[in-house]
Amino acid sequence: MSAAPKCPACDASAVAEVGRAGVCDLWRCSCGFVFADRATWRDPYSNRDYYDPANQPAEEYPLRITTTERDRIASVRRFVQSGRLLDFGGGIGKTALAGHAAGFSAIVLEDSHKAVSDGKAHHPEIEWLEGKTIPDSIEDSSLDVITLFHVLEHLPDPRAALSQLHRKLRPGGLLVVEVPNWGSHMRWLHGLRWQFVLDHHLNHFTAASLTSLVEKAGFSRCAVEFRRTFAINEAQMWKEPLKKLLCFLGFGDILRCAFRKSAA
Ligand SMILES: [Zn+2]
Repeated sequence: MSAAPKCPACDASAVAEVGRAGVCDLWRCSCGFVFADRATWRDPYSNRDYYDPANQPAEEYPLRITTTERDRIASVRRFVQSGRLLDFGGGIGKTALAGHAAGFSAIVLEDSHKAVSDGKAHHPEIEWLEGKTIPDSIEDSSLDVITLFHVLEHLPDPRAALSQLHRKLRPGGLLVVEVPNWGSHMRWLHGLRWQFVLDHHLNHFTAASLTSLVEKAGFSRCAVEFRRTFAINEAQMWKEPLKKLLCFLGFGDILRCAFRKSAA
């Protein structure tokens, strides 16, 4: 084990070793945040495109929106029903397409060149931006909604990202963040063999540590939800009430929180 690293959420160095997870060491801060030591971590996707067919099964276009994406947008529509929605790290664009179908003016920001070029060719009804941060072409305070589905756990500097998101949202704008739930009983049962301890997951959040990090960036939490699994299995919809019960009992592996930017 290396020397105790500084917490990327609060800068404290009072941390405890969680253990070795694949390519890096995981640590826990007294603030509750669990993170990969940046000194030992290497980005497994730094030299390749995440959506290259060698890494991911090829997608069929036009894309079909599923219950999973509609469920994500339902969490947005609890608070905001229309306007400009940017899906940060939006991948091949299914969540943004669900937003578009629900009446939003939808934008995808995605680092994968392949996802963006395929998206532009097949789905011009949404706007496509390639990159890791929101470009200057999106003006400050111009977005009504920003969503991050399974993005924040990948970012080496989540505070810097949240500060940009805060700037780009209008006062009162909505931020929806979904991440794996480190507070799940499943994680406790499986330890470091839990399914979301992965070489490209740098940050691990509980509802409390996510809320603390995002609220420090100038937001107020307005909703906490849990899901049992990453995606809803449309062939087994009868399992959904059972999964909801398991979430209620603390076995939700997925954490989804909504936050509002304080009105100016
Ligand atoms: Zn900390």
